[in-house]
Amino acid sequence: MQKANSFGKGKSVYKCTCCNRMTRQVGTGDCENVEMCFDCYELSGIENGYNDGNLEILEHAADVLRHYGSIVSKGGDAQSFDWIRNEAIDAVSAKTN
Ligand SMILES: [Zn+2]
Repeated sequence: MQKANSFGKGKSVYKCTCCNRMTRQVGTGDCENVEMCFDCYELSGIENGYNDGNLEILEHAADVLRHYGSIVSKGGDAQSFDWIRNEAIDAVSAKTN
């Protein structure tokens, strides 16, 4: 059994190309291939879907804010996701107004 907080042997550590956080391979595949952390990968997916008109930002607003908050709270640079975060906030406030 490995300790939950230790970097696993044989799994490489890399810097997320997006938020510059050090992250490690967790075996989920895709986000490692593009050298992104999980949060950036998820946000990028939402970003792409939104850009392509394939998703409603409102339906993903909670995810956007959660992933964005996760990046910031771990000391990452979430600046490139500011705009999608703002879109999410706008969508939520437009709904509640
Ligand atoms: Zn990242």
